[in-house]
Amino acid sequence: MISTRLSFRLPDAAWMLEFSAEALRTFSENAQHHRWSKESVGQLFTRDLTSTRVLVEASTLLKPTLATRARVRFDTAAASAERQAMFERGLHCVGLWHTHPEPAPEPSPEDRALARDHAMAAMPQVSGVVFVIVGTLPVPAGLRVWVDNGHQLRPAALEDA
Ligand SMILES: [Zn+2]
Repeated sequence: MISTRLSFRLPDAAWMLEFSAEALRTFSENAQHHRWSKESVGQLFTRDLTSTRVLVEASTLLKPTLATRARVRFDTAAASAERQAMFERGLHCVGLWHTHPEPAPEPSPEDRALARDHAMAAMPQVSGVVFVIVGTLPVPAGLRVWVDNGHQLRPAALEDA
């Protein structure tokens, strides 16, 4: 059980990305620990986009329209409605997360396309979107973080506490 925050950084970025204990709990609780586990998906929210430490305060769970062991789809209208509701509470969407049935997950070609679509849609308000995949190893080993800036999907590295 993770009770503290975790920080990630891109190789040449001035800002850090932090995940609250609550956001990390959602990842851990939905990791695919069984052969019959299905993929989960949700969105990532922060209160302050201007800080050099972007804190992902909440990770939500979207109701999938399709979920199998190695695939998940969600309703974009439901995701949009959730962003609106969170925005009214002062929270901005910074990206997406989903689970994979592999220990240290890698993005599929479909994942890369999804991250790019979201990055293009979010511009120019934000300079990139956060793309998290939760594998089967316990957090933080199973937690992988990327940022898509509209041109590249780049891995962020876990900072030493
Ligand atoms: Zn995936």
